[in-house]
Amino acid sequence: MDMLKKVPISEQDPKVRAHNFDEVCLGYTEEEAILEASRCLECKNPLCVMGCPVSVHIPQFVAKVKEGKFDEAFEIISECNTLPAICGRVCPQESQCEGKCIRGIKGEAVAIGKLERFVADFAMEKGIRRPHSHKKNGKRVAVIGSGPASLACAGDLVKYGYEVTIFEALHEAGGVLLYGIPEFRLPKEEVVKKEIAMLLHMGVKIELNTVVGKSVTIDELMDEEGFDAVFIGTGAGLPKFMGIKGENANGVFSANEYLTRSNLMKAYDENSTTPIMRGNKVAVVGGGNVAMDAARTALRLGSEVHIIYRRSEAELPARKEEVHHAKEEGVIFDILTNPTEILTDNNGCVCGIKCVKMELGEPDASGRRRPVVIEGSEFTIDVDMVIMSLGTCPNPLIHSTTDGLNTTKHGCIIADEINGQTSRKGVFAGGDAVTGAATVILAMSAGRSAAVGIHDYLSSKNAT
Ligand SMILES: Cc1cc2nc3c(=O)[nH]c(=O)nc-3n(C[C@H](O)[C@H](O)[C@H](O)COP(=O)(O)OP(=O)(O)OC[C@H]3O[C@@H](n4cnc5c(N)ncnc54)[C@H](O)[C@@H]3O)c2cc1C
Repeated sequence: MDMLKKVPISEQDPKVRAHNFDEVCLGYTEEEAILEASRCLECKNPLCVMGCPVSVHIPQFVAKVKEGKFDEAFEIISECNTLPAICGRVCPQESQCEGKCIRGIKGEAVAIGKLERFVADFAMEKGIRRPHSHKKNGKRVAVIGSGPASLACAGDLVKYGYEVTIFEALHEAGGVLLYGIPEFRLPKEEVVKKEIAMLLHMGVKIELNTVVGKSVTIDELMDEEGFDAVFIGTGAGLPKFMGIKGENANGVFSANEYLTRSNLMKAYDENSTTPIMRGNKVAVVGGGNVAMDAARTALRLGSEVHIIYRRSEAELPARKEEVHHAKEEGVIFDILTNPTEILTDNNGCVCGIKCVKMELGEPDASGRRRPVVIEGSEFTIDVDMVIMSLGTCPNPLIHSTTDGLNTTKHGCIIADEINGQTSRKGVFAGGDAVTGAATVILAMSAGRSAAVGIHDYLSSKNAT
């Protein structure tokens, strides 16, 4: 075995998977996981742990995998991570734990994410559960939203002994894990729902179809329903648009709407009662993970798909793995290209997208080279559907219905970085609602920090 390289992992053939919604990555076998774990150098000062926002005890769990003690590896991971099967699949490990791995200096980093996924899948398959005999302390916490920030916060709060109720606006729990990230990257029944079931088993309660700010307000939860503290983890689900001509045409979607219809309402399933429009030729505008997910979904629904991105390939914000998978499957990348207008036919339906070519100029405030229009480079791509994937910001509903909750000019809730405390006493917040669109693991880390903040707050005299 070449110790400089990761043990290869099986994936569905690109030609086959471009036509189905089954998971792309097939995961390690027991033998492969043990072999990969044996590449860990067991550093005395493990930098990988510093690279993990929730500080999973990586060398310890990897050592257990190497010994074939997968159940013990699961116990170790569970101390810090309530959603390991999810994180093992979607975390940007290359810039976190694996980005710091010493093995990565001369060769490839240890496949920490794939090992975490292996251990979590093993535990789910064997029905191994986390202990849940936590002594109740008589205090109640309301958690708003059921994405990773809220799930991590709720998981830790029940361990401290709180009675925790999650209030979720939609009819299913999981946030973006369920309605954003597609099935072929993150299976819903087999992974997301099973990890949430583990939390229910630990004692977390979930009330679905409850839009806080409409069905009930934060004031009512605290003053009338007797909750001692509140955590807001409502994410950043409001899509941004470019403001160009034609954006309101029939056949233009935000990536959020498109993916929600496909994932949550199973629009990709031919037997679904909520079918989604299938374009012959689709333009996806943007270059992040969300754009890749929308493009690969449209591809699987039978379309020719173009990613339109205004900077160069090196600046694509999506994970390299996602770009690689999208290319392998046949997504076409029109880089250094920017849309200027969406063209419509006599019926108001999309029939093309007008673009200009760009070149990179001087670096901007983000340190990336600013894209500049090349004069006279206008051209049109014939498309019958456009998906806008330009980022999102938090929905204003919560802060517009809660007194004393300060936000930034972009509508993000202002919360203390260490403990999640907001400007409103007893109200904490974390995840995308605070940072704007970010990552699963950063949302979880914020949820965990807020759980500590809530525990400190409710344990102190101020809470009485
Ligand atoms: C398509 C897509 C792909 C992504 N891919 C990745 C990836 O590969 N890796 C990665 O790390 N990150 C990825 N992300 C980002 C990641 O999913 C988010 O950063 C993360 O889910 C944020 O978690 P959260 O708990 O803050 O919010 P969310 O996951 O957005 O959850 C918020 C929840 O709150 C609910 N809610 C909102 N308002 C209310 C209300 N008023 N009352 C009750 N409930 C409410 C929502 O319905 C939702 O369930 C992706 C995001 C998208 C959209």
